[in-house]
Order: sequence, then C-alpha cells, then structure tokens
Amino acid sequence: MINRILSILFILFSILITAQENNVKALVGGTLIDGFGSDPIKNSVVIIKGEKIVSVGNIENTIIPSNAEIISTEGMTVLPGLWDMHVHTKLTGHSDYGYWDKVYQPLWKDVIMPASVHQLLMAGVTSARDLGAPLEESIAVRDAVNNGEIPGATLYVSGPFIQHKPYPGTENSRWGVNSPEDGRRKVKKLATAGVDVIKLIDHDQMTMDELRAVVDEAHKNNLKVVAHSHRPEEIRRGLEVGVDCFEHTGLSSAPRYPDDVMTMIKERTADMSQGPLFWCPTVEVLYNFEYNRDNLEFIDDDSWHLGLPDSVIVDIKNSVQHPDRLPYFQLMPSRKPTLETKINQLLDAGVVLMIGTDSGIPMKFHSQSTWHELDVWVNEFGIDPMYAIRGATYWPALWMGVADEVGTITPGKYADIIAVKGDVLRYISLLQDVDMVIKHGKRYK
Ligand SMILES: [Zn+2]
Repeated sequence: MINRILSILFILFSILITAQENNVKALVGGTLIDGFGSDPIKNSVVIIKGEKIVSVGNIENTIIPSNAEIISTEGMTVLPGLWDMHVHTKLTGHSDYGYWDKVYQPLWKDVIMPASVHQLLMAGVTSARDLGAPLEESIAVRDAVNNGEIPGATLYVSGPFIQHKPYPGTENSRWGVNSPEDGRRKVKKLATAGVDVIKLIDHDQMTMDELRAVVDEAHKNNLKVVAHSHRPEEIRRGLEVGVDCFEHTGLSSAPRYPDDVMTMIKERTADMSQGPLFWCPTVEVLYNFEYNRDNLEFIDDDSWHLGLPDSVIVDIKNSVQHPDRLPYFQLMPSRKPTLETKINQLLDAGVVLMIGTDSGIPMKFHSQSTWHELDVWVNEFGIDPMYAIRGATYWPALWMGVADEVGTITPGKYADIIAVKGDVLRYISLLQDVDMVIKHGKRYK
C-alpha cells in the first residue's frame, strides 16, 4: 500500500516537473520591435521557455516546439516591456503632498506602493525607476515584487532623496547632508541597504565639496546618480561632478537653456569615454496640464483604482476637483511654449532622452503616465517613434546596468514582452491599452 502511494506521488511529481520544463510559449504572427532600432520583424515568432526568451525570428525560419502554448499575436505589435525611468510609487495622483505624507505614510508599504507597481505592470511597464521614497518601504516593495510575492513592475529604487535639507515633515523620504563626511556616510548607508541608484535634489544648495563627496561615494559603491534639474545651477553643478542622468525639462518659464549650459552639455556628449549623457525630460505633465485641467474625463477612467481602497480613491478624486486652483500648476501655461525648444536643444546636443514621467504626482496616474509621455514626444514634438520606444526599452536597461538581462527581445534575456493591437510605430497612443503583458515569462494580462 505504502509502495503504491509512493509510486503515485512519484508520478505526480514527475508530471509537475515535466509541466515546468514544458512551460514553453510561442508568440506567433505579430510585428516585432526588438528594441535595437532596426526595421520590425513581420510575421514574427518569439519562443519563451520558463522565464527566458530562447529564440526570435519569423514563421519561416523559426521552429515552434510541439509542446509550446501558442499565443497568436496576429494584427499586433510585439515589443519589449516598457520602462518608466521616473516614477513615485508612494504617490498616486493626490494633489496635496503635505496631507498625503501625513495621512497615508502608514499605508505606503502595504497598500499604496503595491497598488502603484501593479498598475504600472498592467499598463505594460515591466520595469521602473522609483526616485524618492523612504528606505525601508522602497527596499521591501522592490523585493516583494522580485520574490514574486506581489505582481508589479520590477523596481530600481533610490530610497530617500539626498539633498541640502529636507522640507519639514518629509525626513523619511529626504535625507539632508551637512558636510562631505555626512554625505559619504548617508550614501554608504543607502548602498549597504541595497538601493539601486542615488537621487539628488536641490544640490545647488549643497557645497561643492558635499556634492562631490556624494557623487564620488555613490560611484565607489557602483551606484549611478540621478539629478533633479529644474534650476540652471542644478544642471551646471551636476555636469561638473559627473552626474549620470538628469531629470525634467527645467528652467521654469525661461525660453531656453542658456548658451553656457548648452556648451557644457555638448562638451559632455562629445566625451565618448563617459558614455552617452542621459536625460528624462518628464515633459508630458507640463505640456498637457491645461488640456487635463479642462478635460477631466480621464479621472473617471477607473484604471488607476486597481489595488486602492475606495476611501483612498474618493480622497484622491476630491483633491483634484479643481486643478485650476492648485498652486503646483499655476505657472504651467507660461512654461508650455518653452518645452519643445528645450527638448530640441537637448536632442541637438546629442543627449539620449529616456521615458520618465513623474508618475504619481498630482493627477498623474500610474496606469496612464507612460503612454502619455510617449504620445507627447511623438505626436507633439515629432520625435521618431522608434527613438521614443528605445527611450523606454533599450536605453533604460543599459543605463540600469541590466542590458544583458532585459530591455530588448533577444534570446537569453528575460521574457519581458508586451503586445498591442495595431501598428504602434504609426499610432503610438495604442499603447494606452496594452493587450498582453508578460514579465519573466509569466503572463499577467
Ligand atoms: Zn519626480
């Protein structure tokens, strides 16, 4: 009797193992953008085994294993999972930061941030750089995603901002630096805790010695540095100390980046030994403010409710009832006409732009932010859609140091793949409704 039970168990176990080995998917028929920038592959085939991509080709030259689960991508564009290089998972669109921090901080780790990463994933964002949140929460949520405990975009986190002085009440998310030694100590603490990147803000208020110490210590610990860059001196100093990525389309309502800043940027892009100069313009939130203010229907799209308790949803909705009255946005109409000029200045100087959105800030929902940014780049500024897609796939993975694992659809890499009905290169806004999301070989949508 015992023997019989054992042998049945053995058979069940073998079936389970074989099922896992046989976890083969074939995405068949769609037009494939692999992320490297060349012409898409028509009638493509992507074979996924377990978590990884094993082959990529077309229906003529690619053998589909007999045990594969066949997923038709006919009529679709197939592309690498998107990256959003500037998100705030602790925020979900509420208009009052002070109130949000005070009331919802206890919910960030277990409710808010998990909801944010899940919404990003459902929007086709399989990886995101989270810039500026409390240390413990950032690490915990990132690890929970990586361990498969919660569904979400793979996160690369900075933990707290490093800056001159935190604003009152934000000490958890912002660490002040009051000497070069203090700067090194805080960066070391972040590195030891396991952050993926260092985020600088207001570094035009730090001393140059403090700033140099922070960047140097980060680089010693193999961490890249991202710098907020709304003010000219944040850019000048950032370039001087070798910051690795700049954020936002800055200089408020000033018409363009000044000549001396542009000269510095061009000196930097000309120095190939340092690699490309990267920049996330996070421009859509500025560009579309007036449109959003006057067309609030997008708030009634419930895609941003996923994972959030009803009471939080109501609270957020109430906070954005009158966007025209929000102090945060008052200068937007004067900034808007300057944005295209500044983007073109950066492009002309040879900067590599990446998709980042500031997702989570007032009225910016994680379920919608990323395609909005792509849409403004392509349809308002005339940026080549393939360039825009690479700014959301290939370049972010390279910047993050994981280009051999993700960022393109290539044999040997993790299967982070999305598919959308229609031709994304002709109609980029199709990305607002991603039909299929696969992360590490697992299908989430
Ligand atoms: Zn931000």
